[in-house]
Amino acid sequence: MASLELKSLRKEFDGGSIVAVDDLNLEIEDGEFVTVVGPSGCGKSTTLRMIAGLERPTSGRIHVGGTDITDVHARHRDVAMVFQNYALYPHKTIQQNMAFGLRMSTDMSAQEREEKVYDAAEMMGIEDLLDDTPGELSGGQKQRVALGRAIVREPDVFLFDEPLSNLDAKLRTTMRTEIQRLQEELDITSVYVTHDQEEAMTMGDRIVILNDGELQQTGKPTDVYQNPTNQFVAGFVGSPSMNFVDVEADPFDGGVRLKGADGSFSYDLTSGRASAFGDIAGGSYVLGIRPEHVAVSDAPGADTIPSTVDVVEPIGSDNYLYLDLGTESRSFDTEDAPDFIARVPADIEPEVGDVIQIAFDEDSVHLFDVETGDAVT
Ligand code: ATP
Repeated sequence: MASLELKSLRKEFDGGSIVAVDDLNLEIEDGEFVTVVGPSGCGKSTTLRMIAGLERPTSGRIHVGGTDITDVHARHRDVAMVFQNYALYPHKTIQQNMAFGLRMSTDMSAQEREEKVYDAAEMMGIEDLLDDTPGELSGGQKQRVALGRAIVREPDVFLFDEPLSNLDAKLRTTMRTEIQRLQEELDITSVYVTHDQEEAMTMGDRIVILNDGELQQTGKPTDVYQNPTNQFVAGFVGSPSMNFVDVEADPFDGGVRLKGADGSFSYDLTSGRASAFGDIAGGSYVLGIRPEHVAVSDAPGADTIPSTVDVVEPIGSDNYLYLDLGTESRSFDTEDAPDFIARVPADIEPEVGDVIQIAFDEDSVHLFDVETGDAVT
């Protein structure tokens, strides 16, 4: 077991024309389970491959347990990686596949090796498959073998590169829990890469969000969800996504007036985050509010925004209402207005075309800088 530290890690490809990872600094504690998430091409796999020793950093250092391993060959790193495509040898038995890493990196006896493989197989519930070959196994079983093979090596660090992407939705959910259980039981420092923000949020002790090779934010999933550092993170984390509306802000004593940038509505924020926004400069901002932080009612009030219901989407416990904001004051065609979604209890079932009133949970309103996307705090 060991901590993992990435120090100013950078990876360029094609002579520097592609910067896959840009000045990445990250400290992962001994036994911590960190999920790394971001859109396609943000540098997740490259980061993992550098930790595994499969890719050489252009600059920066990697430390495991305080020791600099940047120049250590992949084979000599105490790091085990689990891949999306399982990476099993098709002609070897499951027993041989699982023992392979041991044979390569240690000189233990055949019997000891067999015992270790059996223990790991038992842990993964695949002890009855040891004499089979990968071709005889389902996707879920193959991934269990790949996990078992990683466990057998008793590594300092576990690396997971989208290990569940090839599995169907139900199996993915089961395997998520299995991997979490395993990680907790073995207490091995783990870095888990996924492009699925929900997977990242539910599995990690801590989540790391990358975009364009750069670290955007790291923290506990709930902290990141509640306090996104910028508009990218705010929009990436959570489903459906946070609503964004261009506004003009006009601070006054005790609050801030937020007007739709297209003149469609005016909303006075006087409680909750209003005090945090008390001394912002007036001007253009992006308002962010999550669907579950929008309340709806029939009665117009000083702090409500009239909105037309475009779509009602039932999801069982709740309904998603797709709304067109500021209906009554709009003097132009609103068909192109961006989706604005409210998540409301299932017993609120307006008709399409109804005009309803919406209000914000004022503790959960975010404002972002128009130029930088940074959150105003
Ligand atoms: P995905 O989720 O699609 O796998 P990712 O976040 O894992 O994406 P990387 O695979 O790390 O992203 O790639 C980061 C960037 O580096 C991308 O622009 C990619 O095209 C580029 N890249 C990765 N490997 C190479 C390579 N061997 N040669 C050239 N460019 C590369």
